[in-house]
Amino acid sequence: MTTPLTVSHLAGNYHPLPVVLTDGKGSWLRDSAGVRYLDLLAGYSALNFGHRHPAIIAAAHAQLDRVTLTSRAFDHDLLEPFADALAHLIDADLVLPMNTGAEAVETAIKASRKWGYEVKGVAPDRATIVVADGNFHGRTTTLISFSTDHDARTGFGPYTPGFRVVPYGDAEALAAAIDETTVAVLLEPIQGEAGVIVPPADYLPTARALCDRHGVLLVADEIQSGLGRTGSTLACDLVGVRPDLVLLGKALGGGVVPVSAVVGRRDVLEVLTPGTHGSTFGGNPLACAVGLAVIGLLETGEPQARARELGNHLHARLADLVADGSIVAVRGVGLWAGFDIDPGHGTGRELSERLLTRRVLVKDTHGQTVRLAPPLTIEQADLDWGLDQLVDALHRPTAH
Ligand SMILES: *Cc1c(COP(=O)(O)O)cnc(C)c1O
Repeated sequence: MTTPLTVSHLAGNYHPLPVVLTDGKGSWLRDSAGVRYLDLLAGYSALNFGHRHPAIIAAAHAQLDRVTLTSRAFDHDLLEPFADALAHLIDADLVLPMNTGAEAVETAIKASRKWGYEVKGVAPDRATIVVADGNFHGRTTTLISFSTDHDARTGFGPYTPGFRVVPYGDAEALAAAIDETTVAVLLEPIQGEAGVIVPPADYLPTARALCDRHGVLLVADEIQSGLGRTGSTLACDLVGVRPDLVLLGKALGGGVVPVSAVVGRRDVLEVLTPGTHGSTFGGNPLACAVGLAVIGLLETGEPQARARELGNHLHARLADLVADGSIVAVRGVGLWAGFDIDPGHGTGRELSERLLTRRVLVKDTHGQTVRLAPPLTIEQADLDWGLDQLVDALHRPTAH
């Protein structure tokens, strides 16, 4: 560790790996000394199309020369096209644009509660929402109120009431938690931050059936799992489940600006009438231009196909590492994997640091778990090179 010569003015709510990045293109980044790094994190899936994808950057440039912000006090010419295209992409009725992922989740909670009172007839202020342990839905005071991550939650009370936490992947526990006050079940179809946890194949279909039986909304947080990552436009598609509300973020902004949205049923989102909800920046022209470029890429089906093909390759190679004992376990689907390393190989953080010296960028999710989420545009040869570095970092930890 080097001692900084000057006192930093940056708040310490992150512990980044020791690298200072200056520019990027595709799957590669460069630091201030000109050293190139392969990005196998891709901004936690905010960079599904890599750094500065030409179509996305062209759309952003063109929009910068037209208009960038109008506020929702007025419409602009890309707002309806954006909503149309996104509704069409995921076969839903209405789109409510926001900015960050956390805002999309907050919006869905508000819509679900209001729908619960106005449509389902839940007694005032009694609405409950069932969520899963190990969840990650963002950092606001309400969202951390039902986090089970000690660091994310502790010290930030008093907590927002109205949430019931059940074990993830356990359909019986989900059934037991639903009662007449329940307005929504909020789940990640695959839990990203928890370490890319894939639930049993019948979990989401059972959740769907339970929600149908009890008149409860199924809200899928696809902020990390959605938009191609799993080889499908939505992770819910993989198990044939149609949520009532889908939350999108991260990759929707094309790695350029924060863009999020709640997408779903007309009769649910219609409860949010003028004055009941909003955002100064939500649906701004630059966000819509970038979002339209992202949707255009996904409409071709190519990113999804690449995630499937390269994902099969990625998981075959990681399975070899489990078989030879280099890693303990691997999970995931498509171009998305979480794997656990034996404590004898160090922590996830230490492995990330060893990979950094080998010019590969990854990040531990916590403890012994490392997540891989390369850009969906990555070349297979680059992916293989990155995985070769992983093998080397596991087998020769002190080299370099
Ligand atoms: C990242 C993430 C969020 C929060 O998104 P922000 O843009 O950081 O607010 C919410 N849900 C899931 C599943 C995420 O991965």
